[in-house]
Amino acid sequence: MGLLSVRERVLEALRGVVPSGASQDIVELGIVTGLAVRELPGGVRVSFALEAEPSRIAEMEPLRAEAEAAVRRVSGVAVAVAGLTIPKKSLQGERGEAGERHPAKISLPGVKRVIAVASGKGGVGKSTTAVNLALAFARLGLKVGLVDADIYGPSIPRMLAVSGRPEIRGEDRKMIPHQRYGLSVMSIGFLVTEDAPMIWRGPMVHGAVTQLFRDVAWEGLDILVVDLPPGTGDAQLTLAQSVPLAGAVIVSTPQDLALIDARKGLAMFQRVGVSVLGIIENMSWFLCPHCGGRSEIFSHGGAEQEALKLGVPFLGALPLDMAVRETSDAGAPIVYAQPDGDIARIYGAIAAKIEERL
Ligand code: ADP
Repeated sequence: MGLLSVRERVLEALRGVVPSGASQDIVELGIVTGLAVRELPGGVRVSFALEAEPSRIAEMEPLRAEAEAAVRRVSGVAVAVAGLTIPKKSLQGERGEAGERHPAKISLPGVKRVIAVASGKGGVGKSTTAVNLALAFARLGLKVGLVDADIYGPSIPRMLAVSGRPEIRGEDRKMIPHQRYGLSVMSIGFLVTEDAPMIWRGPMVHGAVTQLFRDVAWEGLDILVVDLPPGTGDAQLTLAQSVPLAGAVIVSTPQDLALIDARKGLAMFQRVGVSVLGIIENMSWFLCPHCGGRSEIFSHGGAEQEALKLGVPFLGALPLDMAVRETSDAGAPIVYAQPDGDIARIYGAIAAKIEERL
């Protein structure tokens, strides 16, 4: 069964989807974009998006679900994922041949480079790494922005002790990022109430990404560090595809399990053509606050070996150190609170390596 034939059948299925009240199907209407048919172990994976005006996102959701279901029923298709995307006229994105467009990327003219900090699973210290790396970049003399896109549990507001809805200014009504310790900061946590548990579905993720990137006055930045949600699901994929990433950094603990997850993260970025700048091993060894002794509780070095095997750079290792957690909990992360300490030095060296690779 060739790929072409699956693609043809997918298109046929999409031609069967007609918006209520319309006389043309969604293919004829020209609102299907970014159709990608990929043969992966386990079956063919199809992804695409339907164009929807920002004001009509909620209205378009049933149509998106219908189109996704229609494609899922095509024989040979193992996974079908449909999202909603802002129409091309509203966004400047990369364009290929007709019908083969990549998902439109949000354009960020005020930012030189965007890097993502990712992890295969939660709790490995991804946000801690993102915030301290951002501070380390600032110490290198760069103008730095930090986006907390961890829609499942934004922690940057707590780590930097900043909160509140950002001010909206200017003719284009953009949100002004909060300023903290020399960083321009934006978090999904500034926009949603903390006590409301949220179920994030495709179009909502797209909406959140739009808000955090396109609707913010990101200006004059050398680097924008993005704290991604943990894991490698559709939310992460949407982010990786809609934001122009210069590269991604993967945070992992040395334990095997976390490393397996890190490998998934790596595969995800490779699939969407984002270069992986390297792996950082967090909680690599335990630094005893009493005696200063070093214990390698999680068989330190796992990430370095793994990076070597996977052919990606190893960027450095951070100890499990009480001061890292305490400073974050107190709202002044360690690179800011103890700028001349050993940990700040390690983050500084990692930031310099990343800067060099960019
Ligand atoms: P993630 O973003 O991967 O879910 P966090 O950055 O929120 O993880 O970290 C999870 C918890 O572990 C936090 O309480 C954080 O302060 C703590 N932590 C992260 N890295 C370290 C470290 N190197 N040493 C000590 N505590 C750490």
